[in-house]
Amino acid sequence: MNRSQREHLYRLFLDIFFPRHCIVCGQSGILLCAPCVQKLPHAEKNPISYCSSLYSYRSPSVKKMILHLKKNKSKELAMIAGKLLSDVCRDISSEYATIHQTKKTILVPIPISRTRLLERGFNQSKLIAESLLHYLPRQNYALQELLQRISHRKKQSTVTSRQERLKNMKNVFVAKNMLPKEPLYIIVDDVTSTGATIHEAKRALQKAGARHITAVTVAH
Ligand SMILES: [Zn+2]
Repeated sequence: MNRSQREHLYRLFLDIFFPRHCIVCGQSGILLCAPCVQKLPHAEKNPISYCSSLYSYRSPSVKKMILHLKKNKSKELAMIAGKLLSDVCRDISSEYATIHQTKKTILVPIPISRTRLLERGFNQSKLIAESLLHYLPRQNYALQELLQRISHRKKQSTVTSRQERLKNMKNVFVAKNMLPKEPLYIIVDDVTSTGATIHEAKRALQKAGARHITAVTVAH
């Protein structure tokens, strides 16, 4: 039995014992069906000018998608998000390449704290970045976990005002090493709200020498 036959059997096994349904409309056989993807509402204007987001986090369907991805380590949903985000990344990179004569783009997932990693078992931003990389040409794109989260602050969702959120996130990231300034760095995360996380991640990358930094998220 070759690899693709094994994968097919495995899928069949999963479909029989763990039947999948679209998390939005309930159609069987798929976790998020194409018509439902089409209907997901686009993100409103992001508070961070350099951050591009796909969908509106106000939408219950989008929330369901993100929650499902986070709770179940859903590679399938990450791949859907990755495919859509790859178009955004391609646009950003090609614009950058024409100005700066370099095609090298580094995807930088937002790290989660050690505690959260132990609880959840995986980092959803890394999962999205991996799926994103799957749809991009390897000669120009790489995924690098350049950031480290240096302390476990209050959970951002428990802090309400924007001002407090910014304060709570201050200096929460540090780059693991000095960085070359030429490549384009694209920070990858699942959701942005106030933008505090992205802002701090950008600051840490800049401190380490990065000059050109943008960000993409699935929802805002
Ligand atoms: Zn559906």
